[in-house]
This record gives sequence, C-alpha cells and structure tokens, in this order.
Amino acid sequence: MSFDALLAVQAADTTLDQLRHRRSHLPQRAELLAAERRVAAGRAKGEELRAQHQEIAQRQAGFEREMQASDQRVASLDKRLYSGEVTATRDLQAINAEVAQIKGRISHLEDEVLQILDEIEPVEAEIAALDTELEHLDATAARLRDEITAAEGDIAQEAARVEGERSAAAAGLDPGLLATYEKLRDRLGGIGAARLEGDHCTGCHLTLPSTEVARLKRAPADELAFCDQCGRILVR
Ligand SMILES: [Zn+2]
Repeated sequence: MSFDALLAVQAADTTLDQLRHRRSHLPQRAELLAAERRVAAGRAKGEELRAQHQEIAQRQAGFEREMQASDQRVASLDKRLYSGEVTATRDLQAINAEVAQIKGRISHLEDEVLQILDEIEPVEAEIAALDTELEHLDATAARLRDEITAAEGDIAQEAARVEGERSAAAAGLDPGLLATYEKLRDRLGGIGAARLEGDHCTGCHLTLPSTEVARLKRAPADELAFCDQCGRILVR
C-alpha cells in the first residue's frame, strides 16, 4: 500500500482548506462592506438634507405667495387711486397709507427671500456633493461585487481541479485508512497525515526519539505508523 497517495489526499485537502479560506477572506468583501456602510450612512444623511431643503423651500414659497398677493393688492389700489373714482382727500390718504404699508411689507418679504437663498444654497451644495459621493460609492460597490464574483469563479474552478486530484488519490486507498485519516484531520487542525523527514514529524514539527526513528525505519513499508507526539499518521 502506498502512503504517498494518502499524502496526496492530505495535500489536496490542505489546498481545498486554503481555497475555502481565500474565498471567505477575499479583501474585496471587507471593502464592499465598508462601501455599503458608507452608502447607507450617505442615504440617511441625504434624506435629512432633503427634508431640511423642503422645509426651507416651503418657507420661501410662503413668502413668495404673500409677495404676489401684496403686489396684486398694490396694483388694484393704484388702479383705484388713478381711476378718478375716489376723490375725497381722506379716502385718497387712506389708500396711499395702505399702499405705503404694503410696500413696507413687500420690502421686508424681499429681505426674507434673500435670507432664504443664503440658507438654501449651502444645503443644495451639500446635497449635490453627497449625490456625487453616492454615485462613486455605488460604482465602487458594483466593481467590488464583480471582482468578488470573478474571484469566486476562479476559486471554484481551482477547487474542482483539486477535488479531481483528491478523488484520484483517494480511489486507491483503504477505506479504513481514509476514515482514520479523516478523523485525525478533523481533530488536529486539518492535518491528519504527515511525512517523517529525517527525525522530525512534519505534522507537529517535533523531533522523534532516535530509538523511535530507528524502529520506524526497520518496520515494514506497509505498516501504519503514528507520530508519538501528535498522533498523526506518519508516512516514511
Ligand atoms: Zn507529529
């Protein structure tokens, strides 16, 4: 029985473990998570800004409606003044007084609107900057998703190839030996079989007593051996 096939199975399993680790630790995943968090925060901020913008715009519309009504009132008063219908000095004075009062109010409203423009401009600039940032972030997230999909495809292809190698290597192995290997692999961090190199086990990297090394070297090649230190299958 060739224990080299068991080491080939071990090598394939180690590679498959590494591929799974690579798949779940793709650097793009962390970047995508960060980008998605920034998008969520940006959207929340955008909603806040749009609500703020709407509130200011409503105040502006209110002032503008009042200005329009005041302009109309002044126009109609002017019309009465110059129509010749009103002749009594007291009436003319009353109309003039109302016109003056409304014009004062209009002037005040104009100031209010100018103030609102000062107030609304920075909000609009902030919304525009945020929208640009969100566009960039969306593009970044889309690129990262594509990269993850591509990397996952590459890993799946590589895994299929290695699984083929593992099946070929495992095909010739004794099922009992394979079961022992699987059990050890589960228990010992993914390594169930290791090679004896010189006087040390490549599974635990500890040096075996020289009497044990000598005994292993004398033992028949098909005898199943285990490392005294870590319990893994030891392949001479
Ligand atoms: Zn060992």
